[in-house]
Amino acid sequence: MVSVIEMRKIIIVGAGASGVYLSILLKQSHPSLDVIVLEANKTPLKKLLATGNGRCNLSNKEMNISHYEGDQLDLVKDIVEDFNMEEAMKSLGLYTKYMGNLLYPRSEQAKSVKNILMSHAENLGVVFLYEQKVEDIYYDGTYHIKTETSHYHSDGVVLAMGTPAGKLSTMDDRQKILRHLDLSMKKMTPSLTQMITHPVYKQLKGVRVKGHFTLEKDGRILREEDGELLFTQYGVSGIAVMQLSRCYEEGCRLHIDMMKEYTKEELKDIIDSLQELEHPYDGLVPYQISALLEKTKPLPFLKDLTLEVKELREAQYAQVMSGGILLENVNSSLESKKYPHLYAMGELLNVTGDCGGYNLHFALACAKRIARDLKE
Ligand SMILES: Cc1cc2nc3c(=O)[nH]c(=O)nc-3n(C[C@H](O)[C@H](O)[C@H](O)COP(=O)(O)OP(=O)(O)OC[C@H]3O[C@@H](n4cnc5c(N)ncnc54)[C@H](O)[C@@H]3O)c2cc1C
Repeated sequence: MVSVIEMRKIIIVGAGASGVYLSILLKQSHPSLDVIVLEANKTPLKKLLATGNGRCNLSNKEMNISHYEGDQLDLVKDIVEDFNMEEAMKSLGLYTKYMGNLLYPRSEQAKSVKNILMSHAENLGVVFLYEQKVEDIYYDGTYHIKTETSHYHSDGVVLAMGTPAGKLSTMDDRQKILRHLDLSMKKMTPSLTQMITHPVYKQLKGVRVKGHFTLEKDGRILREEDGELLFTQYGVSGIAVMQLSRCYEEGCRLHIDMMKEYTKEELKDIIDSLQELEHPYDGLVPYQISALLEKTKPLPFLKDLTLEVKELREAQYAQVMSGGILLENVNSSLESKKYPHLYAMGELLNVTGDCGGYNLHFALACAKRIARDLKE
């Protein structure tokens, strides 16, 4: 087995959030180690720039394992609880703030996070090579990493390729790479994504409602959420819908209560009291909904609008994919149980978190775990 002392060169595949952060931590603790990052895109951290609508929701005050799903959740718990995003960012000079439970950079700009991470990595001497889409990796005592145009060697490899969620990273070759390295995986499927429904309320496209939302199948509640829903031309979106999408099952239905602050009886009284007005619901709901209510039964529409969920929208509309490399392949340092100094981290692992900073937290926490154990 190659020891840390013998490891002179490590290649990180993927200049996403986890890959870039790990490159910094490795150079900080092992300045003489050659750290090379191979990235398929022309630029680093493309997905990070899109996070939190460009504001980058880094983490969450309520950090606990109930917000994650995947395999080996004890290990996931250990990793996420061992990482403090606020402190980690502050040590790089990035100040943060909470908005509710959500942690953001103080500037509220994902660009600040990118700039800070990249300037640290580059100043520490990390080498970034772009348009280097890794197509194959094999091990014969040394790692051989093949891209379309080049062939690299190294003593260690970190797989930080993420998933195709958001169509901001590449996908096709992940499976081939993982097969050659004997890493078993769960099929990746879109998670935290939008829903295609029947019926569709096209006239409500762009309207947001706050309320209580329940995903149900055959009378069984799959998940409930309070929050915000957005009507779209194909169905529904919004943070609450994305959270619910994680529990999607074929044939399920979405129940929308957009008046959760009133009981049915209270709402009936309100509706009755408004009937004298020319447009009775204008003062109660957005005007697009008000117009619809004049043509339908208002009480069930407002208290229990039921939509059949036909399917989830595909990867390009998803924030994360569930599935990925099973954690049973790796030890608590995220190192392969079969190959020395082969690591996997971030969204490529079979772990997904809720909306609200949980996925970036996990990605960076993995980097910390790998760097911590390489020190020993
Ligand atoms: C629109 C959107 C908004 C989001 N908002 C948030 C948010 O606010 N908070 C939050 O916590 N999470 C958010 N997420 C999820 C979060 O961005 C990801 O979970 C996180 O970026 C995962 O980091 P990663 O390093 O594992 O992978 P990525 O950030 O996906 O990085 C992987 C990198 O590997 C590269 N790559 C892939 N294959 C290869 C290959 N074969 N060879 C070379 N390079 C390769 C990719 O191009 C990419 O640069 C959001 C996601 C999306 C799509």
